[in-house]
Amino acid sequence: MSLDDLEKRFPQFPEPYWRASTTFKDFPKCTSDEKTDVCIVGAGITGITCGYLLQNDGFKVTIIDAGKILNGTTGHTTAKITAQHNLFYDELIGNFGEEKAKLYYQANADALNFIKDLVLRENIDCDLRKQDAYVYTNSDDYVEKLKNEMKAYEKLGINGELVDNTPLPFSVKAAVVMKDQAQFHPLKYLSYLVDDFVSKGGKIYENTTAIDIEDDNETYVLTREKHKIYCSNIVVASHFPFKDTLGFYFARLHAYRSYVLAVKTEKDIPDGMYINAEEPARSIRFADYKGTRLALIGGENHQTGQGICTMKHYEALEQFAKDTFGVNEILYRWSAQDLTSLDRMPYIGKITEKHDRVFVATGYRKWGMTTSTFAAHLINDIITGRENPYVELFSPSRFNVDPSLKTLITTNADVAKHLISGKLEFVIKTPEELENGEGSVVRVNGKRAGAYKDDNGELHIVDTTCTHLGCETEWNSGESTWDCPCHGSRYSIDGDVIEGPTKKPLKKITLD
Ligand SMILES: Cc1cc2nc3c(=O)[nH]c(=O)nc-3n(C[C@H](O)[C@H](O)[C@H](O)COP(=O)(O)OP(=O)(O)OC[C@H]3O[C@@H](n4cnc5c(N)ncnc54)[C@H](O)[C@@H]3O)c2cc1C
Repeated sequence: MSLDDLEKRFPQFPEPYWRASTTFKDFPKCTSDEKTDVCIVGAGITGITCGYLLQNDGFKVTIIDAGKILNGTTGHTTAKITAQHNLFYDELIGNFGEEKAKLYYQANADALNFIKDLVLRENIDCDLRKQDAYVYTNSDDYVEKLKNEMKAYEKLGINGELVDNTPLPFSVKAAVVMKDQAQFHPLKYLSYLVDDFVSKGGKIYENTTAIDIEDDNETYVLTREKHKIYCSNIVVASHFPFKDTLGFYFARLHAYRSYVLAVKTEKDIPDGMYINAEEPARSIRFADYKGTRLALIGGENHQTGQGICTMKHYEALEQFAKDTFGVNEILYRWSAQDLTSLDRMPYIGKITEKHDRVFVATGYRKWGMTTSTFAAHLINDIITGRENPYVELFSPSRFNVDPSLKTLITTNADVAKHLISGKLEFVIKTPEELENGEGSVVRVNGKRAGAYKDDNGELHIVDTTCTHLGCETEWNSGESTWDCPCHGSRYSIDGDVIEGPTKKPLKKITLD
């Protein structure tokens, strides 16, 4: 696969369609100490929705983001708004019982209704469309699982159906449909929330990284520039909770990456939102685009920093798009990661039992449009002292021995494997051997390092040891980043932090 060939077929740089079709004004950096009622760390859908609700409830709210607002996972989503989180309800009934499974469904259905009602009431121009959501399979092994999922829908009173064909232009062995779900343009929707928040006095600071939380005599968020944001409550909406010692989330979450192509297709893209049940994952929906439809083809899940050359994932999606709808042009490509908790239930609520004023919302398992929305309501209700039926189910302090213990062991064993394997790997390639536009793990002064040669032939060399907990990062050729296989931290070619949990850049290396 030559670089020339790839550049012809794929947009050279990853950019999500959502970001390319929305403009946001710039917000300042925080340059002094501040006082507010609630400080929210992270301006993704969780932080913005939470800020919107709290500000409307009369609180003074400040949101800070390490980079630009809505440029984390939320800017790189596929934005299906649904309570159908692939095959989940049969598993939920098995692990948590019928009552809790019903609560999980209800929380997501409430969130979907909140978004729909708000969009209609405020006339928000965000391409919101009612859609049925499908999980389909073409594997005999999964047909039984789909039948069990349908039985779970019936037990829980979910409006759905088991079918053996769909509006897709290829046959399926079976599909479970959840009726009356929705899709939208997430950033157009969130632009409304941002504008409303700011117009009511809410403050947003960009390029402001939180590095610590104090919650003893005083409560404040400390920024990298050593400014303190004093407040009564803190919401950690940073995707990966940024303070390692509060709740040890690094041992309780793992990051999975997936890829998306936005394609002009030969065949028409039908209504409906689709995902298959088996691997490799394939997700399909359309997005409104200049009076026509773009197909958003997603999938190719893998643990961050692990797996094959990342451009291969885009190629696999391109092949799927060709085989199913035909490809006229690939307009955008992007990838992102989301986090999964040990028992696959999100962590929403007090960050630890001991911290009554610090809240967290994470572990959405790639279903964060509804999950973030009810998370924002849940946290808002706790802060305002309102009753909320979902507090216990999503409490981060829960500990369900089965199945979380099994996952805990495998997750930590996997982290240990990557901690060790990167260190033992014998690397012979040197930076000089790289072609322009190529990045790779290399050997510098007898040690493992990471090098990228840019289009002008200039080398960018970093120490590949992740500054979070010391695993070795790997080259991600699709995004031109250094990704950590242990907890999903990501760095630019010069080692700057793109995504946490790490807060410190990689060390730069200069050649003698
Ligand atoms: C490829 C893909 C497709 C998906 N498709 C769907 C879908 O169809 N439907 C669905 O429901 N969900 C989907 N999801 C999941 C959904 O997009 C996410 O769950 C959701 O966007 C997470 O939002 P967030 O606000 O929690 O995190 P983010 O959007 O990542 O926001 C976190 C913010 O915190 C900031 N931050 C981090 N650390 C700090 C710090 N120390 N200080 C200050 N700021 C900090 C970051 O810069 C970032 O802006 C998908 C996810 C992926 C990866």
